Amino acid sequence: MTKEKLKFAFYWAASCGGCEIAVLDIDEKILDVVAIADIVFWPVAMDIKYKDVEAMSDKYIDVCFFNGAIRTEEQEHMAKLLRKKSKVLVAFGSCACQGGVPGLANVSNRKEIFERAYLQSPSTNNPNSVTPQLSVKVPEGELTLPEFFDTVKTLDQTVDIDYYLPGCPPHFNLVAKAVEAIAKNELPPKGSVLAPEKSVCDECPLKKEEKKISKIYRVYEVTPEPEKCLLEQGILCMGPATRGGCEAQCISVDMPCTGCGGICPNEIEQGAAMMSALMSILGLDEEKDPAYDVEKLIAQIKDPLGTFYRYSLPASILRRRVMKK
Ligand code: SF4
Ligand code: SF4
Ligand code: SF4
Repeated sequence: MTKEKLKFAFYWAASCGGCEIAVLDIDEKILDVVAIADIVFWPVAMDIKYKDVEAMSDKYIDVCFFNGAIRTEEQEHMAKLLRKKSKVLVAFGSCACQGGVPGLANVSNRKEIFERAYLQSPSTNNPNSVTPQLSVKVPEGELTLPEFFDTVKTLDQTVDIDYYLPGCPPHFNLVAKAVEAIAKNELPPKGSVLAPEKSVCDECPLKKEEKKISKIYRVYEVTPEPEKCLLEQGILCMGPATRGGCEAQCISVDMPCTGCGGICPNEIEQGAAMMSALMSILGLDEEKDPAYDVEKLIAQIKDPLGTFYRYSLPASILRRRVMKK
């Protein structure tokens, strides 16, 4: 008897589309996916409507890979609908897992974002100051738009999820391993991160010498010496605070890790973990030399929020900027 195929779904919420491409990055292993599963919902690739998902029976979808953060009412609705229709829901990519780059908008709110995007940007020509409205009456009837929320949320702040597959986008090896685990019915316990229990530093081939640094460089300001840890050369590398699984691929092209693998196993906060690692390498946790100018050192870190929380602000303890209504 032929084994019945699994049913997969893919969806994108507040996303750049990179995670959709990552699914295809598994190259010929996509044939393994096709061998074990039918894709029943994938708006980027298939003409299928939300009403078709609504018509599915509950838990009809075996595995739904959901990428993107939750920023609008439509995305929240789809997260809830796909949760109901799926046996297994996977937060796919940094945006779904931790809020990702769209989550940096949590330093702002809808009012400020609309003002910037529709009224103030240098390329805007909007003489009547029109901004998106939830409902507009036109001769043909009423046009509606989903609400744009003040705060970007992660998928697990919206619905119950089963697994996290981190990365921006997830490394193709992690995607292939996840598909293999699904095919063999060998998924780990609910709530697991489908990535190794180690940091990017653990996977990095560069040599660490436990050196202290006294100057921080931006990537363009210095050519790193080969084979030596970038952080110990003063280039901010999030490797110590980031979960591995990507084979330290950025470091292999002389770029520091920016943290897309998300929080390290056994840490509770990626940004705080990195600040702590940096404090040690700057020697700030040791008895201070009076000549040691802490503030001058810290001031060298340009864009601390974008450095320490580039992918994780909504999932962090900070979560968002407190703003007056
Ligand atoms: S995780 Fe990265 S690649 Fe995936 S949708 Fe978000 S920004 Fe794009
Ligand atoms: S800090 Fe960066 S460069 Fe240094 S060992 Fe870790 S991952 Fe490699
Ligand atoms: S090195 Fe860091 S930023 Fe680059 S892919 Fe790996 S986890 Fe992401």
